[in-house]
Amino acid sequence: MEKTELLGLSLEEVEQVMAALGLPRFRARQIYHWLYKHQVHSFYQMNNLPKELRHFLDKKVALTVPRVMKARVSRDGTRKFLLELADKKRIETVAIPQFRTDGKKFTICVSSQVGCPVGCRFCATGQSGFERDLTAGEIVGQVVAVERELKQREKQNLGERYLTNVVFMGMGEPLLNLDAVLKAISIINDDRAIGIGQRHVTISTAGFIPGIRQLAESGLQVTLAISLHATTDEVRNRIIPMNRRYPLESLMESISSYIEKTGRRVTLEYLLLDGVNSSAQDAERLAKMVRPLLANINLIPYNETDRLHYRRPDQYTINRFVACLTREGVNVTLREEMGSDIEAACGQLKGRMAAAGRKQEIGSVDSK
Ligand code: SF4
Repeated sequence: MEKTELLGLSLEEVEQVMAALGLPRFRARQIYHWLYKHQVHSFYQMNNLPKELRHFLDKKVALTVPRVMKARVSRDGTRKFLLELADKKRIETVAIPQFRTDGKKFTICVSSQVGCPVGCRFCATGQSGFERDLTAGEIVGQVVAVERELKQREKQNLGERYLTNVVFMGMGEPLLNLDAVLKAISIINDDRAIGIGQRHVTISTAGFIPGIRQLAESGLQVTLAISLHATTDEVRNRIIPMNRRYPLESLMESISSYIEKTGRRVTLEYLLLDGVNSSAQDAERLAKMVRPLLANINLIPYNETDRLHYRRPDQYTINRFVACLTREGVNVTLREEMGSDIEAACGQLKGRMAAAGRKQEIGSVDSK
């Protein structure tokens, strides 16, 4: 019989599992504490549990934290991890340092799917196809695995936490796997587990309108980020195929309704691609589209990869774009993609590993 997986269950659900095994409820709290406060990977590491109980739990239930197969550290402090799941599928997770806090606190960028069905043309993950959704446990497991890895590398006191913010911007479209994402957020948010507040969680979408509606209904206080990346349907259809089904006008309407319903601001992400979406006319159209929403725009000059043909615009074009938005009164932030020297954009590390035919030594850590 398949063992029940505890990672990804609420504390109350773990209590039910303990009760079904004839164990007292407080064992659930002990397990929860070991798992989420000390990031242990096995019942045998829970050293205030009797030895026979650890053995019993190991036989009856599972605790499957993703395995770190490879980690790379960028010159800017960004760390990228290739994680392996129980079925040997691989995903990527990135930890981005927050320099306001001396670089000792990180935002974790988690994946929500293995691969991605959306197929954005500029994205390495989108070009490698879709395999499956992640479970809530596999999403939470990324936070557990990376927190543990950071603590081990920095040899930090086990009581302190490195990860303070979570963004769903890794592999996959989170709104296409929203039930698992919402369950994972409830555990990430729970003080008895990871304890990162909802306002420190961001969900990014390529524009899946039914998911935006469902998220508005959920009452969660998370930040919504929309990957806009174009100002006309003609261009957006080309670079984000989902736009054919959910075109710009409907997307902008759904963003307005989201803001009205939740009272929360949204962030619009705009990747600057040379010769595609970075003209002065694009900047003017963008300003017109977003002004009524009072949204912030994050402009991100494209991080080039040799496997995709898109290019980053030159500095003149980038400056002109920023100047136009600012002149039009739009709140704009120019962001450099972190970790460009370690291929931190989603799907690049996994793609590189596959391309190398897995000749590289798995399990090694490449620190730059
Ligand atoms: S950019 Fe995001 S939504 Fe688009 S293909 Fe890549 S992972 Fe999927």
